[in-house]
Amino acid sequence: MSALEQSDTAVRSNGAAQGQAGRIEVHNPATGEVIGHVDDMTAGQVEALVERARRAQPEWEAIGFDGRGEVMRELRYWVVQNRERVLDVLVKENGKTREDALLAEMFYVCDALGFWAKHARKYLADERIKTHSPLLMGKRVVLRHRPHGVVGVIGPWNYPLTNSFGDCIPALMAGNSVVLKPSEVTPLTNLMLGEAMREIGAPPDALLVATGAGQAGAALIEHVDMVHFTGSTATGRKVAVEAARRLIPVSLELGGKDPMIVLREADVERAANMAVQWSMSNSGQICIAVERVYVEEPVYDEFVQKVVEKTRALRQGPPGTPGGVDVGAMTNAPQVEIVRSHVQDALDKGAEVLVGGKASQGPGQFFEPTVLTGVDHTMKIMTEETFGPTLPIMKVRDADEAVRLANESRYGLNSSVFSKDIAKGEHVARQLHAGNACVNDALMNYLALEAPFGGSRESGLGARHGAPGIRKYCATQTLLITRFGPKKEFGMYPNKAWQAKAFERVMVAMWGRKPKRRK
Ligand code: NDP
Repeated sequence: MSALEQSDTAVRSNGAAQGQAGRIEVHNPATGEVIGHVDDMTAGQVEALVERARRAQPEWEAIGFDGRGEVMRELRYWVVQNRERVLDVLVKENGKTREDALLAEMFYVCDALGFWAKHARKYLADERIKTHSPLLMGKRVVLRHRPHGVVGVIGPWNYPLTNSFGDCIPALMAGNSVVLKPSEVTPLTNLMLGEAMREIGAPPDALLVATGAGQAGAALIEHVDMVHFTGSTATGRKVAVEAARRLIPVSLELGGKDPMIVLREADVERAANMAVQWSMSNSGQICIAVERVYVEEPVYDEFVQKVVEKTRALRQGPPGTPGGVDVGAMTNAPQVEIVRSHVQDALDKGAEVLVGGKASQGPGQFFEPTVLTGVDHTMKIMTEETFGPTLPIMKVRDADEAVRLANESRYGLNSSVFSKDIAKGEHVARQLHAGNACVNDALMNYLALEAPFGGSRESGLGARHGAPGIRKYCATQTLLITRFGPKKEFGMYPNKAWQAKAFERVMVAMWGRKPKRRK
């Protein structure tokens, strides 16, 4: 049985009753072939999965950090042992290159499995809180983090492992059971991971995969105790509204329009390599892709020339053997149309295409690696998320203009600044309205699993990674523990005038002096 047929089987063993749901065809976007079918689950089937996950949660929580850590490490071993099979499915359903699947997905997930297995206990340990209040002397205050119960994770199609399964790992390590709703476009890899959990003997139903289109995601929000969503800002808004209606916690990792700034004293060769790599990788379908570049006048021509040369040298085509191509397919057909419309809008308003500029005729969905100049902020390509292999470059007078334009955006996910003057580069980076900023680098900050990664403005709410990346999957409970309490504390009934007077005197003694103001 082939890997893809097995993925089909995984759908069945996941528990969706056959004959009740419609079926979704999964395509290889690089060839147009149908490579599998999954259930388009009904709301009732999604609810049933959440119920199963809810029944499984107490046992999963009870095995503790050590038990859950063992499962995560076992799963990592399974992924490494089955890497060829997993990579095959990942490349086929997404259209990305094998290198991207290996490094940005499989390596990330293996690293994250070990990271959360090791660090979850530390991030979620009880915290003793020293209170300043004299009225609480001798009492112990403790903050504890406990799992919400069943977490719903809803993911996009651009990184099925990293951005769908990757978000399940801290949720599981926190002691939640998880129902994962992958994108209908790329459900197969996540089904394999669900299957792997069963194969390694993980407690049944701790992780379940709900396949289906958008309405399966909406149904999931109806029943879970917390939802983590990665996807577009438009859908994220709907998810937030539904979560608000149910008053359940939500974290949102949404779109971006990440700027790169190249200052006059930058290492132009390094900046050009970074710009090409991180605008074209995965056909630009990365939420933290370099989506627009501002270059100071003195190095503009040199930067553009280098970027053009490097982009012309890229090899594009259906991904096959390692090292075969640099840029693969576009995963989702409607996205090709968005990229085409952004390029056309730029051309209509006076931009110039120096490389590429067109979608392919097929079979398969490809858009040529594209470099544009003569762009400005009247154009969609500089203001809306393109999510394609495009690199628009704009000339700026100085760093102030670059910062102003970089900040002229409704998004605020990642950003980067290039300068050999580190202090200046950092100064500029600190002025950017983005959840994350790199100096002389791009995207690599995502690998610092200890550091919170989240968006500002319309790029999201909350963060993944670091302490917030796992605490969001927990509710807090604050405990006040009194060991040696008198039978009756000062100030308790019946009210007495002298006690009120004593409180008043203490208050006046502490806060009754007029504060000095700085001149
Ligand atoms: P979408 O917002 O279209 O979909 C994301 C997920 O939500 C999919 O599983 C989708 O299902 C599901 N969904 C659709 N409608 C609803 C609904 N009403 N309620 C609940 N779930 C729903 O995003 P894309 O899949 O197109 O992904 C691309 C976007 O993701 C880009 O904007 C990108 O920037 C963003 N992204 C952000 C990241 C970050 O970390 N900030 C990382 C990666 C991507 P289905 O696909 O089956 O319709």
